Amino acid sequence: MLARIYPDKDADLKVLDGETIAIIGYGNQGRSQALNLRDSGLKVIVGNIRDASFDRAKADGFEVYDIREACEKATIVFILLPDEVQPKVYEADIKPAMKKGKTLVFAHGYNLHYGFLKPDADVDVLLLAPRMVGKFVRELYEKGTGAPVFFCVHQDASGKAMSKVLALAKGIGATRVGAMEVNIADETELDHFSEHWIAPMISRVLLLGYEVLTEMGYDPDAVLMETYMSGELGEVCSSLAKDGLVVQLPFHSRTSQFGQLLYADRVLPDEAKDLIREIVMEIKNGTFAKEWQLEQILGYPVFNKLMDMAKSHPINEAERKLKERVKIVID
Ligand code: NDP
Repeated sequence: MLARIYPDKDADLKVLDGETIAIIGYGNQGRSQALNLRDSGLKVIVGNIRDASFDRAKADGFEVYDIREACEKATIVFILLPDEVQPKVYEADIKPAMKKGKTLVFAHGYNLHYGFLKPDADVDVLLLAPRMVGKFVRELYEKGTGAPVFFCVHQDASGKAMSKVLALAKGIGATRVGAMEVNIADETELDHFSEHWIAPMISRVLLLGYEVLTEMGYDPDAVLMETYMSGELGEVCSSLAKDGLVVQLPFHSRTSQFGQLLYADRVLPDEAKDLIREIVMEIKNGTFAKEWQLEQILGYPVFNKLMDMAKSHPINEAERKLKERVKIVID
């Protein structure tokens, strides 16, 4: 069955008359969603710890409060904190303010899906998860369009949760392009699939290519320029979204098309599907969530080690040097 997609006409902002929305966490998603909701005519306040984000929200003209106070003043609470800090902050400062009839909104299903955070039964629980980094959630809205979202009603205590989540989707600009109804499990698992398969595949392919080509004597600057730093790869990725995987092929030379089609199977044979299944199962059965939970408890030993290794790779210095010599402008 195809996922249902809701356009603008299915959402009515009037449903939110009299509601006060608290954006908790004025970071990547928080700032963009707060600005979009306010520009859509809704009453928005911000709750944040006393840091640079707190000051930024003030400078953007919002009433800003400590997290507990913002949740007390609001009827709808967006939890836009990093996923790993949400359960602790929820228990300490959000839950005590979530009286019957209020609404909680998440931008990712992670904590709900794996049971790290359990809202009370008398509040509405909604998912409104942009398929876009925060910066572009704002930029697209300003251009008159929006970022697509996965959304759902996870818990309908009021009986009005569906109209509320659609109105909020309209408020952040998502119904301008279509809001797709996807449950918490699928949103979480698909999101992690992108993060565990697509993203590492791209960076690993580029890194291994860089290592081998420079070992074979190719100029590092030329390798970087050819493989991704010209911005061509970024444009191709945009075209995948705008036009389609195969439809965009004719934008490349015929020689390039032949090379791409001929080598595809050799680069990634069908046997790779076994690895995909393995990765998906580790997401589905909670193996990854447990590992990430353990990391947090132990103070991020593996995360820090992997990040140090990534940051000390010579490719970083090569990129820096090339950026000094060439100014690439990517929109
Ligand atoms: P950020 O990392 O940008 O952080 C959000 C805010 O939380 C910041 O204001 C940050 O303050 C504050 N914060 C950090 N640590 C604490 C803490 N211990 N206690 C209280 N506040 C804290 O979050 P994101 O916007 O990236 O993510 C928010 C939600 O949106 C997550 O559920 C995420 O999965 C989801 N999401 C994110 C996307 C993205 O583009 N990043 C895309 C789609 C969904 P400070 O600035 O000082 O660190």
